Amino acid sequence: MSDPIPTDEPQSTKQPHGNWLTYAICVAIVAAIALALLAPHLAASLHIGGELFLRMLKMIVVPLVFTSVMCGVLGMGDVRKLGRPGAAAIGYYIATTILAVIVGLVVVNVVQPGVGTVDQATLDQMQTEDRGSPKSKIIKTLAESSGLSVSEVGGVLENLPPGESVQPGIGTIFENLMLMLVTDNLIVSAANTQLLPIIVFAIMFAGMLTTMHDEVSVITTLITQTNAALMKFVMLIMYFAPIGIFCLVAARFGEAQANGQFIQELSQIGWYFGTVLLGLGIHAFITLPAIFYLIRRENPYRYMLAMSQALLTAFSTASSSATLPVTLECSEAAGISKRSTEFVVPLGATINMDGTALYEAAAAIFIAQVAPGIDLDFWQQVVVAVTATLAAIGAAGIPEAGLVTMLIVLNAVGLPLEYMGLILSVDWLLDRFRTTVNVFGDAVGAAVVEKTLPEIDN
Ligand code: ASP
Repeated sequence: MSDPIPTDEPQSTKQPHGNWLTYAICVAIVAAIALALLAPHLAASLHIGGELFLRMLKMIVVPLVFTSVMCGVLGMGDVRKLGRPGAAAIGYYIATTILAVIVGLVVVNVVQPGVGTVDQATLDQMQTEDRGSPKSKIIKTLAESSGLSVSEVGGVLENLPPGESVQPGIGTIFENLMLMLVTDNLIVSAANTQLLPIIVFAIMFAGMLTTMHDEVSVITTLITQTNAALMKFVMLIMYFAPIGIFCLVAARFGEAQANGQFIQELSQIGWYFGTVLLGLGIHAFITLPAIFYLIRRENPYRYMLAMSQALLTAFSTASSSATLPVTLECSEAAGISKRSTEFVVPLGATINMDGTALYEAAAAIFIAQVAPGIDLDFWQQVVVAVTATLAAIGAAGIPEAGLVTMLIVLNAVGLPLEYMGLILSVDWLLDRFRTTVNVFGDAVGAAVVEKTLPEIDN
């Protein structure tokens, strides 16, 4: 069931469908951005093509997560053998998320993008509540990304005392995270693409199957074959990637260009944007490759190249969940054992979000730097670090989910929520970069955890 771990073989950079697809996706992205700049309205009208591609990816996420996690556990042969790789995976997720948060805090404290960069008029505007003002934009964006109604989100924000800490407490946040692990209705969770309880169920169920041996051989064969068929289906969907990605990128960049304010807003908070990008770059090009090299003694950048189709899909969809099928496909094509990818990547796409954690910490400190009269001391920054880690674990792998869970971070240290308006306008673009880092973090996780897998006896 599992691929052998390559040892003496040169490290693979094989990509699903070969390199042509990667080149085609790159050309599609560049052409889409060019079209958005030259003919923004035409580009924006292509959203239907992007939506179709996105739906194709999303439609197989739930069945694929279910079967791949089960295959990963079944591949261990015995549920007791799950302990070491399981602990390694959780340890990796937590360690890399904390490292990402530290990088975020260091860059934002060194660069100080919020000191003397945003003018008073813009800050005053953040406090107003007219239609179209930042506050109503925050509510609209949060409603769109959380699936709640505008009045529900508005109600929540109204009930939060401004500028004062309503601290739900790290205990409460932790409790909520624990509750996310188990669902009382698997069908409802599947319908809402809540992957975490599905993964927990799949691990428990497959673990139990491993104790039943021949009694359940039909079920295990069915699951294994369904998983293989779904992976083949991902290959089929990826033939549409160049055109789908072209439409996705053209539509979003075209919309921003057509609105006309994007460049102006970007220049207003360009330092913030650059600081978060710098942090993400350090994590993606130094921290994660260093971990990869330390554990595997192989060239991490070759692995990054092998993952390029998944990374480009992450950039284009801004969703680690939608990218999950491609991440699985690429990491397997790169030679990582199926047992590791099937187990580590789905869980990682749900709870391991290094880019999001880094961004949440950096954005919170940026808001503190901008807001008049607020100076976070060392211990408050530690609270930011802890809540950013938990908020990233709790964030769904969907576009701009990090913006919603950032409320937790801002609340924990009593930062004014109105100032989120400042970062909203560029968040869709930043989201694409942090999602790319999230996906690379999962792929490196699969490569790292592979080294802790038990031997297969047969
Ligand atoms: N869009 C991100 C993801 O899917 C989550 C976020 O940071 O908003 O990984």
